[in-house]
Amino acid sequence: MDYEIVIGLEVHCQLLTETKIFCGCSTNFGNQPNENTCPVCTGMPGALPVLNRKVVDFAMRAGLATDCAITQSSIFARKNYFYPDLPKGYQISQFELPICLNGHLDIEVEGESKRIGITRIHMEEDAGKLVHPEYETGVSFVDYNRACVPLIEIVSEPDMRSSAEAVAYLKALRDIMVYLEICDGNMEEGSFRCDANISLRRWGAPEFGIRAELKNMNSFRNVQRAIDYEVERQSDILDGGGTVIQETRLWNVERGMTMSMRGKEEAHDYRYFPDPDLLPVVIDDAWIEDVRQSLPELPQAKRQRFAADYALPAADAEVLTADRDLADYFEATVKFFSQPKAIANWIMAEMLKYLNEDKISILKSPVTPQGLAELLRLIADGTISGKIAKQVFAQMYSQSDNDPRRIVADQGLAQMSDSGELIAMVEEILAANSDKVKEYQGGKTKMFGFFVGQVMKKSKGQANPQMVNELIKERIG
Ligand SMILES: [Zn+2]
Repeated sequence: MDYEIVIGLEVHCQLLTETKIFCGCSTNFGNQPNENTCPVCTGMPGALPVLNRKVVDFAMRAGLATDCAITQSSIFARKNYFYPDLPKGYQISQFELPICLNGHLDIEVEGESKRIGITRIHMEEDAGKLVHPEYETGVSFVDYNRACVPLIEIVSEPDMRSSAEAVAYLKALRDIMVYLEICDGNMEEGSFRCDANISLRRWGAPEFGIRAELKNMNSFRNVQRAIDYEVERQSDILDGGGTVIQETRLWNVERGMTMSMRGKEEAHDYRYFPDPDLLPVVIDDAWIEDVRQSLPELPQAKRQRFAADYALPAADAEVLTADRDLADYFEATVKFFSQPKAIANWIMAEMLKYLNEDKISILKSPVTPQGLAELLRLIADGTISGKIAKQVFAQMYSQSDNDPRRIVADQGLAQMSDSGELIAMVEEILAANSDKVKEYQGGKTKMFGFFVGQVMKKSKGQANPQMVNELIKERIG
C-alpha cells in the first residue's frame, strides 16, 4: 500500500445517571413515548436548565481514567441547528472550554503497545428520536424521552493507523467506561457509539489527506469493515489521480459499503456561543481529588495484576477481567481455594458456557465462589475426577446447590480408589481384549489409551485414572 492510513475517533457515551442532564426527568429506557419529559427537556419558552452534578462527576471519572487534565472552569455552549428531534433549536454542548483535555489511552495490537492521544472530553445533551411508523406513510412522530439525556463525547487525536488499532482503542475505551460504571457500553442500542474520521496520505507526506467522516457503525465488526472499505475506496480514488472530497458517509451494513450522506457544502455552521442560561462549571481541587480517590482499578491494571499475582496466561487474564464482576468472582473463589489456574479454567470453560447459554451475568450464577471452590477441592484431593466434576457442576448450577460434597455422597459419585475393586476391573478388561494386549506388547504402544478408556467406561468415569494407569502398566508392561 502506497498510503499511510490516518484515523481519529469521536465516541459518544450515554451516561448512566438516573435523571437527565438539565432537568429531573427519568432517563429510564422503554417508557411510553414522551413520558419522561418536562418543560425543560421539551424546550418550552422560559424554562431554564439546571446542571445535574452527577454528570460532572461522571465526565471527570472518564477524564481522570484517561489521564486528562480537568478544566476547573469549563463552559456550556449552544450548538445551533434545526431538526425536529431537537426541541430548543440548539443542543447544549461544550465547545471552546470542555471539561477534560489532553489525555491518552494505551492500546495493544499484535503484542505491540501504542499510546493514542485523547484531545478532549465534553458534556452534552442527547436529542430526541423521530419515529416513522410503517403502518402509515407521510406521518412521523417525535419522542422526547431521550432529549436531554446526558452524553460525554470523547475525541481522539488522529493517532490510529489501521482499522485494528481503531477497534483496539474502542474496545479499551468501552472497557474503561463500563468499569467506571458511567456507561453500559451497549453499541447495538447506541449507548456507546462512534464516528470515524479517515484520510490517507503518501508515506512521509507532511500534511494529512482530506478526510471523510464515517457514521452509523453499531458494532466493533462494523467499525472494522467500514474503515477497511473506506481505505480501499480512498486509495482507489488517489491511485486514479483523483481527490477525495470532504464529506460525511454512512456505513450501509446490508451493502457492505459507505455511502455519501452530505458534503462539505451542506455541512452545518453551528454558530456556537456560550449558553447564557448556564453558569461556568467550577471544579475545585478537592472535588477532583474525591473523584480520583473513587476510581476503581482499571481494566489494564487489573489484567496485568491478574497475570502477575495469579501466574495466569495473558489470554486468561484478559477473559477474566473483561467483566469487572467476573474478575471479582474469580478473586472471591481464590480466597476459598488457592489454585488460581484451576479456577480460571473452570470459570472460562464451564461457568461461562452456562452463563452464556442462559444469557445471564456472573452475579446471577447459581454456583457461588465457595461452591465452585469446594468442587475444585474434591478434584484436587482425588475424591472425584474432572469428568465427574462436570456432572456435579451441572447439578449445582441447575439446582442452586452449593454443596458438591453432599451431591457426590448422595449419588455415590466418589472416585473408585479401592485397589481390590479396580484390580478386578482391570484384569477383566485385559482378559476380554487379549488380542489387543498382544498387539500392544508387539509394539502398538498407542493401544494403552484404549485399555484405560475401557476401564474408565466400565467404572462409569469413577475409577481413579492414575491408579488405572498404574495397574495396567504393572500387568502388561
Ligand atoms: Zn425534563
